[in-house]
Amino acid sequence: MGWSLTLGRVRGTVIRVHVTLLVFLAWYAWRGWQVAGPRGAVDQFAFLALLFLSVLLHEFGHIGAARHYGIPTPDVLLTPIGGLARIARMPERPREELVIALAGPLVTLVIALVLGAGIALGIGGGTFLPVSFDDVSLWTALAWTNVVLLVFNLIPAFPMDGGRVLRALLAGRLGMVRGTRIAVRVGQALAVGLAIVGLQGNVMLVLIAAFVFLGAEAEYAAVRTGRIGAPARLTDTDVRVIPLEATVREALALHDREPRRTHAVVDGEGRFHGLLTEGDLLRALAAGRADSGVVQWLAPPARTGVIVAGTDPDDAVRSLFASGRDALAVVDGQGRFLGLLTRDRVTDVLMAASLRPADPHE
Ligand SMILES: [Zn+2]
Repeated sequence: MGWSLTLGRVRGTVIRVHVTLLVFLAWYAWRGWQVAGPRGAVDQFAFLALLFLSVLLHEFGHIGAARHYGIPTPDVLLTPIGGLARIARMPERPREELVIALAGPLVTLVIALVLGAGIALGIGGGTFLPVSFDDVSLWTALAWTNVVLLVFNLIPAFPMDGGRVLRALLAGRLGMVRGTRIAVRVGQALAVGLAIVGLQGNVMLVLIAAFVFLGAEAEYAAVRTGRIGAPARLTDTDVRVIPLEATVREALALHDREPRRTHAVVDGEGRFHGLLTEGDLLRALAAGRADSGVVQWLAPPARTGVIVAGTDPDDAVRSLFASGRDALAVVDGQGRFLGLLTRDRVTDVLMAASLRPADPHE
């Protein structure tokens, strides 16, 4: 990325700093010098440097959660308006997005609590609620700034973390595209409200509103054009999987609870090992092998083929029909199971599309 310097690398993630942030730091220190000499410059510089360290830790909250789901983060960029961790792909499941979105604010909350506890114990010599700005100690200022960051991040509007939380909650019920559409509209309504308040004389608020409005629109475009693992809409992610070490008997018990023609067999790491159909289970029963492992009866990915997240939806549907099977597994780049692409689901979506007049929003 242009105009940025590399600070270092933590577990595969390159930390970059945009030059405007360095200019910002220098300007702040210079302002401090004008007010209070060298001491003022050091204070101002220390405050901002620690603030951006807090922001970086927040981003590493997101990065750590994404890594937990097998999503790497090639780099994180620090800018004067915040951190930007660029994860390699969007999480496919709403629950994963929820956890990743909440992990950053959770880190910010912990930082604020630790600083608050330090102040309460008298470390650094500040008070919680300074009477005037002259009383503000470095740690008090840092604690309150982290509280503001926390609240700001949880505003339910894209591109803030709160917008992702809202989308993840909606997408669990309504699917990715509809969930995103609603989350985007909520965010934009908030942005318009913010702009109206800002127009009473707060330029900063108007700028933030514009930033929120445009960020929301970009997010919706990303989902609509399928950058979020293309077959997302066609993929059934609400699937109970059969553990790799299960016996045929245990698999049948699961099948009774959630009857479907094809089940996915997944190991403890979430990796996909094969498809198991109702027919496979009946075959094992007929052979009197109810206590054998499902691993002997499943069809491995080498035989059935898989769909890697991000495949063009048309290609994904074509492979499904070419396979002659009634479902194919959708996996991520590491072979982790994300969901099933089933004929039933594809037919439903195609039927719905043909019965409905062209939707101007999709
Ligand atoms: Zn965040």
